[in-house]
Amino acid sequence: MRVTVLGGTGAFPEKDRGCSGYLVQLDGFTLLIDPGYATYQPLLAHVAAAAVDAVLITHGHPDHCADLHPLLRSRAMSLPRAASLPLYAPPGALDAILALDGPATLDGAYQRHDLPVPGRVTIGPLTVDTLPTPHFLPNAGVRVTGGGVSIAYTGDGGPHEPFAAFAAGVDLLIAEATHRTELPPRMVGMLSTAIDAGTLADRAGAGSLWLTHLWPGSDPAGHLAAAASVYAGPIAVAVPHLSWN
Ligand SMILES: [Zn+2]
Repeated sequence: MRVTVLGGTGAFPEKDRGCSGYLVQLDGFTLLIDPGYATYQPLLAHVAAAAVDAVLITHGHPDHCADLHPLLRSRAMSLPRAASLPLYAPPGALDAILALDGPATLDGAYQRHDLPVPGRVTIGPLTVDTLPTPHFLPNAGVRVTGGGVSIAYTGDGGPHEPFAAFAAGVDLLIAEATHRTELPPRMVGMLSTAIDAGTLADRAGAGSLWLTHLWPGSDPAGHLAAAASVYAGPIAVAVPHLSWN
């Protein structure tokens, strides 16, 4: 399994880094997770638009799904048209982004599948388990298994005790870490810090940790130090083109 980062900020893109976005590739199959703002062009550095086999979206915030739209336009408007793209998302999460064009433009470009949360789906060679986490919108934390390894990705969400068991023993944990050690009051319980991410990685026994969804302008070194104060394994901050095998 190969995992590649396409972005890594939360909320809105920075000059050189878009929002959430990850490619998970196994046995020639490419799953795109959370095509957030400004992840479409980094995606094209790794795969052609027509080569994406399925898309999984954790929740309907645009920093996690906005660049689904250029991907679908490219697939629908190119000649020849690409195959209809399976989209897996919590019910209703994609209503807004899919309404940007009239039905004729993207007709046949995608097939929607409601993601059961909690639940399990099989997407190509990958098994995807989901767990809800506390967030402003329904969010599916995911565990993706295939080729003898597992990764987990929190999507967005406040600290959630059951996630450690859900992610137990994963080889890679991609964890939302919006702020370093403290959240603004309106985000408490709905998002996480780098300390929370490190604590989760420690409790889950994760093999390695990527911190993601950093607030624009954050100092990555501060996030790394905070997570390292509670988790002893390897840690990186998600930046475009970072990859893991
Ligand atoms: Zn969100």
